[in-house]
Amino acid sequence: MTLQMELFTPEPPPLPDLAETDLLIANSSAGKDSQAMLHHLVQLADMAGVLDRVHVVHCDLGDVEWPGTRELAEAQARHYGLPFHVVHRPQGDLLTQIADRHRDLRARGDTTTPAWPSSSARYCTSGQKRGPVRVLITKLVTRLDLARPARVLNCLGLRAAESAARARRPDIALDEGGSSGRRTITTWLPILRWSDRQVWQAIADAGTPYHPAYDSGMRRLSCTFCVLADETSLITAARLRPQLAERYLALEEELGHTFKHGLSMAQIVARARRLGPLPLRADGSALRMALAA
Ligand code: SF4
Repeated sequence: MTLQMELFTPEPPPLPDLAETDLLIANSSAGKDSQAMLHHLVQLADMAGVLDRVHVVHCDLGDVEWPGTRELAEAQARHYGLPFHVVHRPQGDLLTQIADRHRDLRARGDTTTPAWPSSSARYCTSGQKRGPVRVLITKLVTRLDLARPARVLNCLGLRAAESAARARRPDIALDEGGSSGRRTITTWLPILRWSDRQVWQAIADAGTPYHPAYDSGMRRLSCTFCVLADETSLITAARLRPQLAERYLALEEELGHTFKHGLSMAQIVARARRLGPLPLRADGSALRMALAA
């Protein structure tokens, strides 16, 4: 109830002055929210006459993200003729990061901190996404070669409807950690208050392709096995990608910590095995159902 009230607040969301911005970064996981956000941002930037300042960045998560994601993010960016950048964590993918962190904690005598990320320990996001995007912003700001600090708008497709934590986020906020004497980074969530239907309508309007994982029953993209996902989504993911599920299971056994509090990868894999594997399908059903609802 609280979530719905916040979602449909009568106050219009604040809109930053795009014309006063030197660089607009569109973070794209290639998922539906990124896709809708990009379409919305392109329209606004075009109206403000600053479409040439928009850059799309995709954080390549390697094997843990859905197959074809990087290519899809690029196709969505190229649809608008926008420059496309791929970044990744140089020290290794998410499973490597989890194993390395756990080893470091153990070496320091810490045997209690959970190995896997969680809603209260989102080190996966900072390591795999936020950090590499900041490195790209540094490069792009250097290229601008301004005699003053660059004004950077870092745009993300987060939505209040996804979680209570996201519902509490402001539409616009200064990124103090990412700002420096050479740049001021403002984080903007242009579709924070959008509903699912608005997202799918924007995708229909854009005419850009969306990932087949949605037609196959997934509600979110990014990591195939997200620590924040619900049980049904995780079981569906394990049916769609049984080999990757086995890698997560092997790591869970090695670390001796369950994938989620109260839900292990062993349980997810066992339930997925009982139901049997699923093929990825692209039949447009997710879009049709969302718009018919
Ligand atoms: S998708 Fe989930 S597991 Fe992956 S980086 Fe984001 S929060 Fe972490």
